[in-house]
Amino acid sequence: MDLVSKLQSNHDLTDAEFLALLSDDSFDEALCKAADRVRREVYGDEVFLRGLIEFSNYCKNDCFYCGIRCKNANVERYRLSTEEILECCDTGHKLGFRTFVLQSGEDMAFSDDKICEIVRLIKSKYPDCAVTLSIGEKEKETYRAFKQAGADRYLLRHETATEEHYRKLHPENLSLSHRKQCLYNLKELGFQVGAGFMVGSPGQTLEHIVADFRFLQDLKPDMIGIGPFIPHKDTPFGNEKAGDFILTLRILSILRLLFPYVLLPATTALGTIHPTGREEGLKHGANVIMPNLSPAKFREQYSLYDGKICTGEEAAECRRCLEVRVKSAGYRIVNDRGDVRK
Ligand code: SAH
Repeated sequence: MDLVSKLQSNHDLTDAEFLALLSDDSFDEALCKAADRVRREVYGDEVFLRGLIEFSNYCKNDCFYCGIRCKNANVERYRLSTEEILECCDTGHKLGFRTFVLQSGEDMAFSDDKICEIVRLIKSKYPDCAVTLSIGEKEKETYRAFKQAGADRYLLRHETATEEHYRKLHPENLSLSHRKQCLYNLKELGFQVGAGFMVGSPGQTLEHIVADFRFLQDLKPDMIGIGPFIPHKDTPFGNEKAGDFILTLRILSILRLLFPYVLLPATTALGTIHPTGREEGLKHGANVIMPNLSPAKFREQYSLYDGKICTGEEAAECRRCLEVRVKSAGYRIVNDRGDVRK
């Protein structure tokens, strides 16, 4: 049996087979076709939207790849008030969004109680919506409080599953084992969990990507966020090259075949390195898009990497633009919470 069919029927391959798939473009057409077939079996032509609210760019961490790292003095820092966050939700809800993702740096000014209060407010105003948090590593008891406040989902990319690679990307005080533990804790607490990694981050090898697959097989997340690494000028990786577009698409297809049910976003980073990156992402197995609902005046400041798209548009414009893009790729946006179909 050829590798693509084997992956599709077994949802697994040997390390050597994964490496072969990752390194050889002759499989790409078959991979893409198989991934699209599987996504249509599970999710039809539906594309789920997540309204992303980047509510603070303050961060206590100094991740070497990230533009809002604490040591970057060139960032103009901002925080949204509770009222501003609720306004973003209001705008989003009117536009048909039924999931809100609250993302930020690790900003200690937002206490656990404050986050719980915001979650409770959103859930009581919009009981038909899912709330996702993406605010970094916390203690298990804090995650439990978030869950009790009504948070449904949590996104925490593991970034890389390989210890030595993790060390190249992060300062001493952060650890891969803690990050992984956070993900297991979140799962145990009943969150729908999203993990993921950057493609082409400095020092990444194809073996590291296979290790990411193995970690994901163990974790079994509901969502997997992957996108190309893109350098940011004010980071130690400012002169590194961006992750490869084709390799990112190939990995999306592999992930769809490995985890047929998984929620797989066509990320903003993918749309940044190629003009129709998100459309291609959808055609290669992705089924989620996360448009920005943050107030337009702050978008420029939530700059994780250089050249980020959609920083100038209002939410309504984004929604219209995506409608056309998704349709052109052969899919359809639905106004739905977009829960995982396991
Ligand atoms: N503080 C939160 C949110 C992080 S930002 C947390 O720790 O989870 C969301 C994601 O953006 C990160 O997990 C990382 O994978 C991605 N990211 C950061 N810098 C990037 C860059 N230079 N290129 C591409 N993606 C990047």
